[in-house]
Amino acid sequence: MRGVSLILPAVLADALWAHAVRESPRECVGALGGTGRTAENWNEEEARAVALYPLPNVAARPVSDYLADPIHLLWALKAMRTDGLALVALYHSHPHGPARPSPTDLRLAAYPVPYVIADVQRRVLRAYSLPQGTAVQVIVEGAEEHS
Ligand SMILES: [Zn+2]
Repeated sequence: MRGVSLILPAVLADALWAHAVRESPRECVGALGGTGRTAENWNEEEARAVALYPLPNVAARPVSDYLADPIHLLWALKAMRTDGLALVALYHSHPHGPARPSPTDLRLAAYPVPYVIADVQRRVLRAYSLPQGTAVQVIVEGAEEHS
Protein backbone atom coordinates (compact mmCIF):
# COMPACT_ATOMS: atom_id res chain seq x y z
CA MET A 1 0.00 0.00 0.00
CA ARG A 2 1.42 3.31 -1.07
CA GLY A 3 -0.06 5.47 1.55
CA VAL A 4 -3.58 6.45 2.20
CA SER A 5 -4.51 10.07 2.62
CA LEU A 6 -7.54 11.84 4.00
CA ILE A 7 -8.51 15.21 2.59
CA LEU A 8 -10.30 17.32 5.15
CA PRO A 9 -11.73 20.69 4.04
CA ALA A 10 -10.77 23.45 6.49
CA VAL A 11 -14.41 24.07 7.34
CA LEU A 12 -14.74 20.46 8.56
CA ALA A 13 -11.44 20.65 10.44
CA ASP A 14 -12.77 23.78 12.18
CA ALA A 15 -16.00 21.96 13.08
CA LEU A 16 -14.00 19.03 14.42
CA TRP A 17 -11.88 21.29 16.62
CA ALA A 18 -14.97 23.17 17.82
CA HIS A 19 -16.54 19.85 18.82
CA ALA A 20 -13.34 18.71 20.59
CA VAL A 21 -13.04 21.99 22.51
CA ARG A 22 -16.74 21.96 23.41
CA GLU A 23 -16.50 18.45 24.90
CA SER A 24 -13.18 18.92 26.69
CA PRO A 25 -12.24 17.61 29.27
CA ARG A 26 -14.31 14.73 27.88
CA GLU A 27 -13.33 13.04 24.64
CA CYS A 28 -15.48 13.85 21.64
CA VAL A 29 -16.34 11.35 18.92
CA GLY A 30 -17.79 11.65 15.47
CA ALA A 31 -17.88 10.33 11.92
CA LEU A 32 -16.80 11.78 8.59
CA GLY A 33 -18.73 10.99 5.45
CA GLY A 34 -17.29 11.46 2.01
CA THR A 35 -16.12 9.93 -1.22
CA GLY A 36 -13.06 8.16 -2.63
CA ARG A 37 -11.65 5.58 -0.25
CA THR A 38 -14.55 4.61 2.00
CA ALA A 39 -15.47 1.73 4.27
CA GLU A 40 -17.06 0.17 1.16
CA ASN A 41 -14.43 1.01 -1.46
CA TRP A 42 -10.80 0.28 -0.63
CA ASN A 43 -9.51 0.63 -4.20
CA GLU A 44 -8.96 4.37 -3.87
CA GLU A 45 -6.00 5.70 -1.91
CA GLU A 46 -7.49 9.08 -1.23
CA ALA A 47 -10.51 9.75 0.93
CA ARG A 48 -12.26 13.08 0.69
CA ALA A 49 -14.38 14.13 3.66
CA VAL A 50 -17.54 16.04 2.75
CA ALA A 51 -19.62 16.02 5.93
CA LEU A 52 -18.96 15.79 9.66
CA TYR A 53 -21.31 14.06 12.09
CA PRO A 54 -20.66 14.76 15.77
CA LEU A 55 -21.85 11.79 17.86
CA PRO A 56 -22.64 11.51 21.57
CA ASN A 57 -19.86 9.89 23.61
CA VAL A 58 -21.61 7.28 25.73
CA ALA A 59 -18.45 5.76 27.29
CA ALA A 60 -18.67 5.08 31.02
CA ARG A 61 -15.58 7.25 31.54
CA PRO A 62 -15.73 9.87 28.77
CA VAL A 63 -12.72 11.70 30.24
CA SER A 64 -10.46 8.84 29.18
CA ASP A 65 -12.53 6.79 26.70
CA TYR A 66 -14.94 7.19 23.87
CA LEU A 67 -17.80 5.12 22.59
CA ALA A 68 -19.99 6.51 19.84
CA ASP A 69 -23.68 6.12 20.59
CA PRO A 70 -24.55 3.24 18.21
CA ILE A 71 -27.99 4.61 17.31
CA HIS A 72 -26.53 7.99 16.38
CA LEU A 73 -23.79 6.28 14.39
CA LEU A 74 -26.46 4.35 12.47
CA TRP A 75 -28.33 7.58 11.78
CA ALA A 76 -25.13 9.19 10.54
CA LEU A 77 -24.43 6.23 8.22
CA LYS A 78 -27.99 6.48 6.87
CA ALA A 79 -27.65 10.23 6.34
CA MET A 80 -24.41 9.60 4.41
CA ARG A 81 -26.13 7.06 2.18
CA THR A 82 -29.00 9.48 1.51
CA ASP A 83 -26.46 12.08 0.39
CA GLY A 84 -24.48 9.64 -1.76
CA LEU A 85 -21.62 9.50 0.73
CA ALA A 86 -20.04 6.72 2.76
CA LEU A 87 -17.97 6.49 5.92
CA VAL A 88 -14.43 7.78 5.24
CA ALA A 89 -13.14 8.25 8.80
CA LEU A 90 -13.98 8.28 12.47
CA TYR A 91 -12.61 10.89 14.82
CA HIS A 92 -12.18 11.36 18.52
CA SER A 93 -10.24 13.68 20.76
CA HIS A 94 -7.59 13.27 23.41
CA PRO A 95 -8.16 16.38 25.56
CA HIS A 96 -4.65 16.13 26.99
CA GLY A 97 -3.00 14.46 24.02
CA PRO A 98 -1.15 12.81 22.51
CA ALA A 99 -2.47 12.46 18.95
CA ARG A 100 -1.62 8.76 19.01
CA PRO A 101 -3.92 5.79 19.48
CA SER A 102 -4.15 4.52 23.05
CA PRO A 103 -4.03 0.76 23.80
CA THR A 104 -7.83 0.93 24.18
CA ASP A 105 -8.15 2.64 20.79
CA LEU A 106 -6.20 -0.22 19.22
CA ARG A 107 -8.24 -2.86 21.00
CA LEU A 108 -11.64 -1.37 20.11
CA ALA A 109 -10.96 -0.35 16.50
CA ALA A 110 -13.64 -1.97 14.36
CA TYR A 111 -13.90 -0.04 11.09
CA PRO A 112 -11.64 -0.22 8.01
CA VAL A 113 -11.33 3.58 7.82
CA PRO A 114 -8.76 6.03 9.21
CA TYR A 115 -9.16 6.96 12.86
CA VAL A 116 -8.51 10.67 13.28
CA ILE A 117 -7.22 11.69 16.72
CA ALA A 118 -7.23 15.31 17.86
CA ASP A 119 -4.76 16.34 20.56
CA VAL A 120 -6.72 19.28 21.97
CA GLN A 121 -3.91 20.55 24.17
CA ARG A 122 -1.32 20.80 21.37
CA ARG A 123 -3.87 21.21 18.57
CA VAL A 124 -2.42 18.37 16.55
CA LEU A 125 -4.55 16.24 14.22
CA ARG A 126 -3.31 12.83 13.10
CA ALA A 127 -4.92 9.79 11.52
CA TYR A 128 -4.16 6.09 11.64
CA SER A 129 -5.36 2.84 10.20
CA LEU A 130 -6.21 0.68 13.21
CA PRO A 131 -5.48 -1.73 14.71
CA GLN A 132 -2.22 -1.77 12.69
CA GLY A 133 -1.42 1.81 13.69
CA THR A 134 -0.25 2.80 10.20
CA ALA A 135 -0.16 6.59 9.82
CA VAL A 136 -2.61 8.13 7.35
CA GLN A 137 -1.79 11.54 5.93
CA VAL A 138 -4.34 14.22 6.79
CA ILE A 139 -4.49 17.08 4.32
CA VAL A 140 -6.46 20.09 5.54
CA GLU A 141 -7.57 21.81 2.37
CA GLY A 142 -8.55 25.41 1.86
CA ALA A 143 -7.25 26.72 5.16
CA GLU A 144 -6.93 30.49 5.22
CA GLU A 145 -3.39 31.71 4.99
CA HIS A 146 -2.40 33.92 7.89
CA SER A 147 0.56 36.05 6.93
ZN1 LIG B 1 -8.25 7.56 21.99
